[in-house]
Amino acid sequence: MIYSEHTAPNPQSPIKNNTPLRLDVAIVGAGLAGLYALYRLRALGFNCQIIEAGSGVGGTWFWNRYPGARCDIESFQYSYSFSPELEQEWRWTERFAPQEEILAYLNHVADRFSLRDDIIFNCCITSARFDTERNLWILTSSTGFICESRFCVMATGVLSKPREIHLNGQDHFKGPIYSTATWPEHPIDLSDKSVALIGTGASGTQLLPHLVDGVKDITVFQRTPNFSVPTSNALVDSAYEANWKSNYKALREEQFSTPGAVIFDVNSAKASEVSEAELKAEFERRWTEDGGLNFMRSFSDLSSDEASNAIAADFIRSKIAELVEDPDIARKLMPYGYPLDARRLATTDRGFYELFNRPNVRLVSLLEEKIEKVTEYAIVTDRATYSVDAIIMATGFEPMTGALAAMDILGTDGITLCEKWKTRPSAYLGIAMSSLPNLFAVNGPGGPGALQNVFSSSEMVVDWIAECISYLTKNDIKLIEADSEAESKWMEEVQNLAAKTLMIKAPTSGYIYTNEAGERIFLCYSGGYPQYRKHLQEVAEGKYKGFRLY
Ligand code: NAP
Repeated sequence: MIYSEHTAPNPQSPIKNNTPLRLDVAIVGAGLAGLYALYRLRALGFNCQIIEAGSGVGGTWFWNRYPGARCDIESFQYSYSFSPELEQEWRWTERFAPQEEILAYLNHVADRFSLRDDIIFNCCITSARFDTERNLWILTSSTGFICESRFCVMATGVLSKPREIHLNGQDHFKGPIYSTATWPEHPIDLSDKSVALIGTGASGTQLLPHLVDGVKDITVFQRTPNFSVPTSNALVDSAYEANWKSNYKALREEQFSTPGAVIFDVNSAKASEVSEAELKAEFERRWTEDGGLNFMRSFSDLSSDEASNAIAADFIRSKIAELVEDPDIARKLMPYGYPLDARRLATTDRGFYELFNRPNVRLVSLLEEKIEKVTEYAIVTDRATYSVDAIIMATGFEPMTGALAAMDILGTDGITLCEKWKTRPSAYLGIAMSSLPNLFAVNGPGGPGALQNVFSSSEMVVDWIAECISYLTKNDIKLIEADSEAESKWMEEVQNLAAKTLMIKAPTSGYIYTNEAGERIFLCYSGGYPQYRKHLQEVAEGKYKGFRLY
């Protein structure tokens, strides 16, 4: 059985007297983008509601409550910029906020701006149909809830649909199976359990250090070895807080001038131009004092120059060799075959590689042995049988497309979005899809996704959508739809930009979708925040260039 306790169907249907709820804008998802969309659209006078599958607000931060879950962007930056009052009153306690604190912040936002009254919880939208005669979207849930709305804003997140993996024989397993992506709210006691952790991406890597002391033993099943860097997390002191609070306006501008809408400590020197001693000193400093994603900013050419990137990757591999006592385990943990940061760099607040020195932690490399089956009490590979009492899946998500593809969204061309995206996920500006009039995705394929601070990019996109809906309403325009040619051109631009980065060199990653024909489609706009903002502005100023308005 897979444990999750957040999806109890709503016992009280929000439908009154069998009358569908009628809205100007239906917002799907009460994560950080959905909450801001409600705030913004309601202020413009639209009748709107959020429909949310979970029992609370927070989206990703509501579901991913596994021990150790924490953001890798600094708290003062990973937050809303729309309200100076909110910026001043909220108190972040840690430099990198843990999940509980981000969830508390989002709950505070929901209360402070009285958003909760306009949120329908425990209601998972399963289908969306466009009524071409009445120009309305009809949204249906598994419990029969029906809402009709002129516009839909899909605020369904970048990483919200867990990747469902089903191991041979998994149903026979007698113990619990947990997922980091739907972690239970109640504490779990694993103290007398042999635990299997499958997956060593950002989530598995963060979870492991918080698990090792509370289990009998743990076997980590690793497929692709990951680069992991320690985070120098700390409590927020009053000087640090005062600096942010007295300079927020300027610091936000600085954030928005960077590619990811994140201020990093960037060293302007190039790795290709400094001595070996300087390289080592800077990497060491970043590793011990200023880690996390700042490690990639040790030198300015690590993301652009393959040779410089390889020097940084070698440094991390040398750290693994230094930290891990058993050379064979160290070898298995060393990532090869893709540039550093081409797959999201993992960050942990309590170390990672050194945990494999512990007597109760075992590593199984799935590159060297294959899982054959799960039995009642074990995971069996082609080399050994590993007895386990509980399994934790940290196997990731279907990024950017998963949540929307899972909804049965039918286009006016008679094709579902899921079918269309099987071959080629695409959205004009990452926001709109041809044959889906009046429907906007805040974080669709072709948008910045996880390459930008998702608070900043979501605020920008929601502002753009809100202004677009206002424009249509003021000008009595009934429908807006992405032109299919503009959509294809946009995705071409997304591929061209990606081709200039090292991220495209990863055989697999969360940024790349590979279709059945083996074609690789880069999902994220990598041109950076300022350039993306410019595109959005130009489209709006050009009276929605690339869209059909009628
Ligand atoms: P992920 O990075 O996609 O990692 C999933 C892991 O599961 C990988 O190790 C993957 O191996 C493995 N896996 C998948 N299918 C498998 C299978 N069938 N058998 C064995 N192993 C399998 O997912 P995630 O760790 O949940 O992280 C997703 C994203 O969330 C990150 O990229 C990041 O953007 C975000 N995140 C951020 C933070 C943070 O802010 N610090 C924390 C957590 C998550 P392969 O690599 O071989 O596919």
